[in-house]
Amino acid sequence: MTRLDCNVTNCLHNAENCCCKAAIIVEGEQAKDTCDTCCGSFDENKDGAYHNLFKTPENRLEVDCEAVKCVYNEGRHCSADHIGIAGDGASEASHTECASFRER
Ligand code: SF4
Ligand code: SF4
Repeated sequence: MTRLDCNVTNCLHNAENCCCKAAIIVEGEQAKDTCDTCCGSFDENKDGAYHNLFKTPENRLEVDCEAVKCVYNEGRHCSADHIGIAGDGASEASHTECASFRER
């Protein structure tokens, strides 16, 4: 389980700079840099319309990851203890990235 910070405050699943999902998938099979990755679990919260008071930020979650060229990728699963997902103001998944990607 990976500790995850996420500054994509425009995502439906974000609360307090954390993610409320139990698991996410990071995409970017050919990624060689952070900007080639993205959070495939992103869902836009259009105009901030969705408010769920019962959203609970998860401290640790399962991160499946297709960025197989990252040093932390073990069998399409993230083995890093802590990662950051970035993309403040994102309106689609491709505007986000795993800021912790490091090329092997
Ligand atoms: S962008 Fe991804 S990690 Fe961030 S809150 Fe949304 S689903 Fe979670
Ligand atoms: S740190 Fe690497 S393995 Fe972990 S989610 Fe980010 S890109 Fe994938």
